[in-house]
Amino acid sequence: MVSAMREISGLDVLALDRARTSRDPRFDGRFFIAVTSTGIYCRPICPVRSPKRIHIRYYPTAAAAAEAGYRPCLRCRPEAAPGSPAWLGTSAIVRRALRLIDDGCLDDGSVEDLSARLGIGMRHLDRLFMEHVGASPIAVAQTRRLHFAKRLLDETDLPITETALAAGFGSIRRFNDAFRGAYELTPQQLRRRRRSAPAVSGEEVALRMAFRPPYDWEHMRGFLASRALAGVERVDDCGYARTVACGAGHAVVRVSPLAGENTLELRVRGAAPGALFSLSSTARRMFDLAADPGRIVSALEHDPLLAPMVRTHPGLRIPGAWDPFECAVRAHAPVPFSGGARPRGSRRPWSDVRAHRRSSCAGGRRQRWSRPERLCRRCDRRAHGAAGNRNLDRPVRGAAGARGTGRVSRRGSRPSTGRVFE
Ligand SMILES: [Zn+2]
Repeated sequence: MVSAMREISGLDVLALDRARTSRDPRFDGRFFIAVTSTGIYCRPICPVRSPKRIHIRYYPTAAAAAEAGYRPCLRCRPEAAPGSPAWLGTSAIVRRALRLIDDGCLDDGSVEDLSARLGIGMRHLDRLFMEHVGASPIAVAQTRRLHFAKRLLDETDLPITETALAAGFGSIRRFNDAFRGAYELTPQQLRRRRRSAPAVSGEEVALRMAFRPPYDWEHMRGFLASRALAGVERVDDCGYARTVACGAGHAVVRVSPLAGENTLELRVRGAAPGALFSLSSTARRMFDLAADPGRIVSALEHDPLLAPMVRTHPGLRIPGAWDPFECAVRAHAPVPFSGGARPRGSRRPWSDVRAHRRSSCAGGRRQRWSRPERLCRRCDRRAHGAAGNRNLDRPVRGAAGARGTGRVSRRGSRPSTGRVFE
């Protein structure tokens, strides 16, 4: 709550009041508004008429509002808010803990396991979370599960049982109990109340990913297009598409902007429901959707070199990578892009040909980025003779070795090579 934390996302009470009354989308996800008279919490952009100031409470995260006993608003859908940038600015330990929770470590592990992985005690971890996030790790994980389930109920036709599993609930009973506790409705009742049918049906799933405007989609698309991996990625006027490893198999994902909305749409085909949350998180990171353009501008507008560029391109984002291992290899290896030349003595050694026959449904991709073990075998010059790709061999082994020691995780931060997309 703001009185205890003094300010939220760099905003004091007066600034929060101004952001609330203006319903400015640039503040969406930077804080949440709870109303004591109704017991509901909202996004700053909620279209419902604002209550009297005396009934308003501010919270830094949805989890903090939920832990204080408030229910999510069914009108503005707090689960659909852009990622909270406040989380990115907190301590390194909290940031790492949030990333691990986002990857599902509390779905089948305990807070004790989490604090052990972080190398700190449980009480210290709880203290850090209350200070920076306003909620306990358990509350953050529970809100994450509930919010993702709510999105699946609203935006897809996935059966309730599969929704529960996809959101990380171990059983349908736990799912129903948690849902009734948070929304005072059953999942079935909530699905019946949704206002519109899903954008797609059948094998494909479409999820909406909100961002804070402005977002320079054309710049992001152009950047990815100039570096698209032949056979694995495709970038055109419709958006960005690629094949991705997914469990034992793989899936096809496509990301494109929704006209007139501060939202990108993620379409997934061929993935098990249990993989959807991870794919959604990865896409959000890759397209830098948690960035806060307002704070970026206020931090850079006084720099004599950067200020003019920030004014000219206010919605620039930093493109991420789908897979840190793939990114590490690309940073050092002569992996050609769609329009580039192939490395000598090698025929697209980084991908598996005809990985999935469904791939052709999304633009004719028939390959996927190889798993580290396969790539290493392929690069072994003893197996392939002198024609093996010498330039690819070392970086592949280096990246695979780093991944084996945990320095490069399957889903994690960008590698520290500093040459990610050169
Ligand atoms: Zn609302």
